[in-house]
Amino acid sequence: MKNYDKLIFEVSKPGRKGYELPAAKLEADGLKGIPADLLRKKAPELPEVSELDVVRHYTNLSNKNFGVDTGFYPLGSCTMKYNPKINEELAAMPEFAALHPAQDEESLQGALELYYNLQKALSNIAGLAEFTLNPYAGAHGELTGLMVMRQYHKSRGDHKRTKVIVPDTAHGTNPASAMVAGLEVVEVKSKPNGSIDVEDLKPLLDDTVAGIMMTNPNTVGMFETDIVEIADLVHKAGGLLYYDGANLNPMLGKVRPGDMGFDIMHINLHKTFSTPHGGGGPGSGPVGVAAHLVDLLPNPRVVKDADGKFHIQTNDKSLGSISSFLGNFGVMMKAYAYILSLGKENIRLVGPMATLNANYIKENLKDDFLLPIEGACKHEFVFDGLKDKSTGVTTLNVAKRLLDYGFHSPTIYFPLLFHEALMIEPTETESKETLDEFIEVMHKVAKEARENPEVVKGAPHTTPISHPDETTAAKKPILSYKAMKQA
Ligand SMILES: *Cc1c(COP(=O)(O)O)cnc(C)c1O
Repeated sequence: MKNYDKLIFEVSKPGRKGYELPAAKLEADGLKGIPADLLRKKAPELPEVSELDVVRHYTNLSNKNFGVDTGFYPLGSCTMKYNPKINEELAAMPEFAALHPAQDEESLQGALELYYNLQKALSNIAGLAEFTLNPYAGAHGELTGLMVMRQYHKSRGDHKRTKVIVPDTAHGTNPASAMVAGLEVVEVKSKPNGSIDVEDLKPLLDDTVAGIMMTNPNTVGMFETDIVEIADLVHKAGGLLYYDGANLNPMLGKVRPGDMGFDIMHINLHKTFSTPHGGGGPGSGPVGVAAHLVDLLPNPRVVKDADGKFHIQTNDKSLGSISSFLGNFGVMMKAYAYILSLGKENIRLVGPMATLNANYIKENLKDDFLLPIEGACKHEFVFDGLKDKSTGVTTLNVAKRLLDYGFHSPTIYFPLLFHEALMIEPTETESKETLDEFIEVMHKVAKEARENPEVVKGAPHTTPISHPDETTAAKKPILSYKAMKQA
C-alpha cells in the first residue's frame, strides 16, 4: 500500500510536525483565565504528520471523490446539474458575505433589495403571489408550507381538517413532513403509468382533508395530465394543493405551479437554482403561496415601502417563525445571480433542454432496458432493470458496473413502483456527447450481462472499496480510526 492510500493516522510518526508554535508563550498567556476543569488532562490523539503528508492526504482524498465536476451524475430526483462557478464567486463577495444579521435595516438595504427581488422573481417563475426565503432546506420548506396549510384551516375555524393526501410514489420527505406538521397521512394510489388515480382520490376527499401534496411531473417523470381536474376536486372539497418543487427544472420557464391550481409550494434552490446539492448543506427551501395565504407566511418578511426602502417586517397573522433571521443568504445570492444571468429568454430553455436530454437517453436505451411507462417523459424516467431477465443481473449490479466506467450510478430501487427501478435524470447542463458516452456504456453493460454476467455481478472492480456488507455499513458504520482498530 502506498503511503497516500493509508489513513492519515497510519502515516503518523511520533513527534513529526507541520508547524512550530512558541510553546512557552502559549502556556504563559494562552491558557490564562480558562477554568482548570475545562482543560484537557491528556493531549488529543491527533495524527503527527508533516505539512506535505496533510496536503497529499486531502488531495488524494478529493481525487477519490466523485462529483458533477468530475463526471456525469445522472441521479434521478436529485438534479445533480452543473452550477456555474461565477455564482459561487458572487456569493462570496465580502460586501455581502461579511454582513451581520443583526445589523440595522438602513445598513442592509442592498442585501434586502436582493432578498426582495428574489422573492419576486420566484413568485413570477412559480405563478404564485408571494414567497418566503426563510426555510433552510426542501424538507423544511415542506414543513413550513404544511404549517401554512394547517394555519389556513385553523384561522377559518375549520378544525376537523387534519389529513393530508400523499401519492404512494411521493418523495419520502413528503409524508415525513406531514407527520412532523401534526397532520395525518392518507395514501392515494397511482395508476400503472405512475399518475394519480383520480377514481381512488375521489372517495378520500371529505371534510377532514386539509390538502394534497403532489409534484408534477410526478416521481416517475410523467406530467400529470389530470392536474386541472385534481385541483378542482380538492378545492371543491375545501382542501389546498401543495406542490413539491424540489426539482423544478422540467417546468422552468414553461409551466407554473400556480397556473395548475397549486396554492402552496417549495423550491429547492440547492437543486434547481445553482447551489450544489448534497453533503448536508447549505440549502434553501423557499415557500410560495397564493394570494389568500400571504398573511400566514412565516415571520419575518422583507417588504418594500412606497419610497423604495426595504424593511424586515413581522405580522400577527403569520404562523410564527421557522428560522433564525432570514434563511441562508449565500444560497439566495447564487439563485439570484443564476436567474439574472440566464434572463427571461434563456430560463425558458431550461425545462425543454432537461426534457430533451431525458427523452434522448430513454429512447436510445429502451432496446436493452425495460421501459415500464411508455411515452414522453419530462426531466427523468424510470427503467425496470434490464430487459433480458434471464441473466440474473440486477439493477444494483448495473449501477455498480457503471462506476468502473467512470459514471455515477442513477437512483436505484426508487420509486417503489417497480422491483428493479433505475431512475435516470441527466439534467439540462449535459452535452449530447456526454449523453452518447453514457448510452454507449449502458449498452456495453447490457451486452456484458448477456455474455459475461459474472463481470457485472462482481462490479465494481476499480473502486478503492468494492463490496462492503451494505447492511452493516448502513447500520454500524465505522467512522473513526479507533473504531476501525477495534473492529
Ligand atoms: C430533494 C427533494 C426533497 C427534499 O429536499 P431536502 O433539501 O433534501 O430536504 C423533497 N422532495 C423532492 C421531490 C426532492 O427531490
